[in-house]
Amino acid sequence: MSGPASSRLLIAGFGRSGQAVARAVLTTDLPGGASGSGSLGFLPSLGQLTITDGADTAALRARLDEFIQSAARLKPELEVQAFLGAEALPEEAGHFELGVISPGLAPHDPLTVSVQRHCDELISELEFAWRLAPAGQKWIAITGSNGKTTTTMLCAHLLREAGRSAASVGNIGEPVTDLLCAEGALPEILVVEASSFQLEYTTSFAPQATALLNVAPDHLDWHGSLENYAAAKQKIFAHQCAGDLALLWDADPFAERTGAVIAQTPVTRATVSLSEYAAPAAYVHAGMLWLHLDPACAPQALCRADELPLSGQHNVVNALFAAALVAHFGVAPEQIAAGLKTFAAPAHRLELIIEVEGVRYFDDSKATNPDSVRAALTAFGPGEVHLLVGGQGKGTSYDELARVALPYVRKVYTFGAEGPALEEDFLRIQAQLGTTTPIAGCTDLEEAVCCAATIARPGEVVLLSPACASFDEFYSYAQRGDAFRAHVSIWAQTVDEYPAPCPTRPLSPPGHAKDRAPNARRRLRWWR
Ligand code: ADP
Repeated sequence: MSGPASSRLLIAGFGRSGQAVARAVLTTDLPGGASGSGSLGFLPSLGQLTITDGADTAALRARLDEFIQSAARLKPELEVQAFLGAEALPEEAGHFELGVISPGLAPHDPLTVSVQRHCDELISELEFAWRLAPAGQKWIAITGSNGKTTTTMLCAHLLREAGRSAASVGNIGEPVTDLLCAEGALPEILVVEASSFQLEYTTSFAPQATALLNVAPDHLDWHGSLENYAAAKQKIFAHQCAGDLALLWDADPFAERTGAVIAQTPVTRATVSLSEYAAPAAYVHAGMLWLHLDPACAPQALCRADELPLSGQHNVVNALFAAALVAHFGVAPEQIAAGLKTFAAPAHRLELIIEVEGVRYFDDSKATNPDSVRAALTAFGPGEVHLLVGGQGKGTSYDELARVALPYVRKVYTFGAEGPALEEDFLRIQAQLGTTTPIAGCTDLEEAVCCAATIARPGEVVLLSPACASFDEFYSYAQRGDAFRAHVSIWAQTVDEYPAPCPTRPLSPPGHAKDRAPNARRRLRWWR
């Protein structure tokens, strides 16, 4: 039983991050515990752990049972209780010194509201990891609406190529807490992909180098408004110290407000720009990437933008961010340049998968909001792209995307649950702009691929960049990207057996479709 002076911890949400925290409670501060782990000193004499989750499934109960058995073995003095399937914590749950909340629980969720009432302090798993980590650990943290995973992976790649030990963690996959509790020595530098959900509940997280890549409408259902969402992302800078680095993008719509937030901290602010910019900055000039972080020194050239193995202007921006972040830890310009040239684009992010008879097919399934689609289009020429958009909507408007895309793309194919909404927005903007870009309403991804593949001609591009989540048709964006690849593959190789396109309206002006014998063997080149 807990003594009178023992503290109580609540874990709200027993998903990946909640389980990581629970495991850390069991394994940290044990004699002979994992060598990498820090200390639970911030939770003095923890005597009681409560776990709550709004769900109550067999799988969840099995995970919980397993945890309770481990707790009885590893920390028998710890009292564990659980409340599952509750809309709110019951009064009898009592009062907690600290609560750790899952990113799945939005601030307006009734469970979150009741958890707030029961806890002195409510933090995220990221903040928990920050407090748990050993003193002296080096951290880079990256947030933004788009580009987090690419920039996080690129930073870790640049560090490793320069002979430094680094791990990419957080929203990208492994919870930071799990890495801290893993066996073996910790990497010198943790590169954390930080989501707005995790940042919302930080109170002392202070990495030595941070980046806010961009703010574009996304996750508004969770945050309630674009302003709240931006404010959560800007928390990445809130506790940084003098000598730390804070990076922002000059063309971000929130750049001015983000700059004002950074100005309230003692950090060095640096700007990323696609044109020459006053130091401290990382920028492009005459097709070359430059670092000029120390105004007292001369700018340092990195490499040419066309030497980057990534497509699109947005990836030049990501490369500049990554370069500046790792330079803060002493990686030399020539090492950065070498690393930039050898980075492989992560899967499902503007990934060239195959060329069929001169038509290139790109999988950008991870483009789950309109801004990432806008960025993807910068990689291609006007009139080149057959754009596939659709999936599960997130309550965002497509007007701005339609304004950018319609004068630019060859044809638009909408699909999935959000297909009709997309089509409606695109048609309305089409009428406003007076453009005549064909728009085809397709039932699902397979039909969209089939229609686009039938119509695309040599030199053109079929781009899956859906602007929506995937959950209407798939388990994940990765499964959607794999399905795209599979449909393209079937189209390319077994055209006889492939269903004929069955568009919900005429697809193209007469004479536009490719003139090709249906059984003709196609010329293919696979990229992955
Ligand atoms: P995140 O982890 O933030 O979702 P990813 O690196 O996984 O970011 O990329 C998600 C989508 O956003 C992809 O479609 C990618 O092409 C696009 N993207 C990548 N970087 C940027 C950027 N800086 N600005 C806009 N879109 C981007």
